[in-house]
Amino acid sequence: MTDTLSPLSRDAMQQELLSVVKSVKGQVLNAQNLYVAVDWKKPATPPPKTTALPARQDRQTFEELRREVAGCTQCALAKTRKNVVFGDGNLSARIVFVGEAPGADEDEQGLPFVGRAGQLLTNIIKAMGLERKDVYICNILKCRPPGNRNPQPDEIRLCEPYLKRQLQLIAPQIICALGSFAAKTLLKTETPITALRGRFQTYAGIKLMPTYHPAYLLRNPSAKKQVWEDVQLIMKEIETGERS
Ligand code: SF4
Repeated sequence: MTDTLSPLSRDAMQQELLSVVKSVKGQVLNAQNLYVAVDWKKPATPPPKTTALPARQDRQTFEELRREVAGCTQCALAKTRKNVVFGDGNLSARIVFVGEAPGADEDEQGLPFVGRAGQLLTNIIKAMGLERKDVYICNILKCRPPGNRNPQPDEIRLCEPYLKRQLQLIAPQIICALGSFAAKTLLKTETPITALRGRFQTYAGIKLMPTYHPAYLLRNPSAKKQVWEDVQLIMKEIETGERS
């Protein structure tokens, strides 16, 4: 067949083809980036295409839960809180840190562990080779008890189901319970944190490591050594999970 195109139209056609190829290449790269961002938990085994949908549904369910908690007035703390502190971090996290309840800074900002104790927790997470965006952080109570008093049994009873649903949706490999109150509440025990820490326990089928609360470390810096031992056990467990 005779080539009837003028050199000018051939040029235009080549330019157009080039721009189509560039655009397709850009879309493929974007799709790859999205996959890495969403499914970093299982980088070694690319999932079948159908896993993308449940992952998105999980996130929608998490958003529904967040909205439900944001409007919660089940206990008296709803009257005194400034903000609900639902939780913050990666919904695909392998580690979830669970503290006791929001303090003044957290109540003000609506985010968990943002005060001095929060800064120390951030440093602990960094020492583990992670960033806050790699883990999930929340508390047993989502609203601040006035004057930072201890949570009351009825407040825990009403609020703990939210935490359980958060943990079900995230399905972490490990929970790190920060402080005596979180550890005792989750494990339903009166055993002191000094005896609980340093050994994995189980909460709802998930391995749980109790350790000291960062606020306790601010008052007792010598206990940092034990916390470091506990987080090293967590890191070892994560590595073992990666290999198996
Ligand atoms: S502490 Fe929990 S149960 Fe009480 S109002 Fe806040 S979200 Fe609801």
